[in-house]
Amino acid sequence: MLKKKITKILVGTNNTGKLREIKDLLPKNLKIYSTADFNIKSPPENGKTFKENSLIKARYFSKKAKMICLSDDSGLEIDILDGAPGIHSARWGGKKGDFIKAMNKVFKELDKKNRNWKTEKIKARFICALTIYGPNQKTINSIGKIEGHISPYMKGKNGFGYDPIFIPKGKKITFGEMKVSQKYRIDHRFKAFKKIKKFL
Ligand code: IMP
Repeated sequence: MLKKKITKILVGTNNTGKLREIKDLLPKNLKIYSTADFNIKSPPENGKTFKENSLIKARYFSKKAKMICLSDDSGLEIDILDGAPGIHSARWGGKKGDFIKAMNKVFKELDKKNRNWKTEKIKARFICALTIYGPNQKTINSIGKIEGHISPYMKGKNGFGYDPIFIPKGKKITFGEMKVSQKYRIDHRFKAFKKIKKFL
């Protein structure tokens, strides 16, 4: 029997930066709903991994809206900070999601580890875990990563979150300095999407 393709989907995020990017990656013939359409707040993210948290969100939003949901959990991992901020990336911005504050915290933590970090390439990566969950739907997961390093200064006003301090491998500019259309075609979310595209 031929499997039915998904025709409508709820994008399970209350982060407008992510919503914009995910909408751009989804096929144009898919009817897309957002959590704002249902007025659903985000659930507590108490998983231990990006994958667990993306499942928690997809399951929660799907049950509330009674619809197939696609959720992502993502964040920035910095090697010399033992992977921090990692799954706590959003929380480093505080309740108001202040990413200047979060990026300053990254700089402060790096200063504590190595006073000369600005002259070195501090290895980091963005990770994105995607989950599709819903009624009469096999649960689907995927992971995408992009390697890079931390910029010693915040640069650029594009994108969201930690974009102004992340320089992808092989590039000289931060995600914040790139056109969003350029970032969307190489980043962790795009790579995770490529793996689940066939289901959509
Ligand atoms: P969560 O997945 O909602 O827990 O939030 C992940 C957090 O990681 C975001 O709030 C951002 O701070 C950060 N993050 C994830 N993806 C990106 C990205 O593409 N650019 C910049 N920051 C990101």
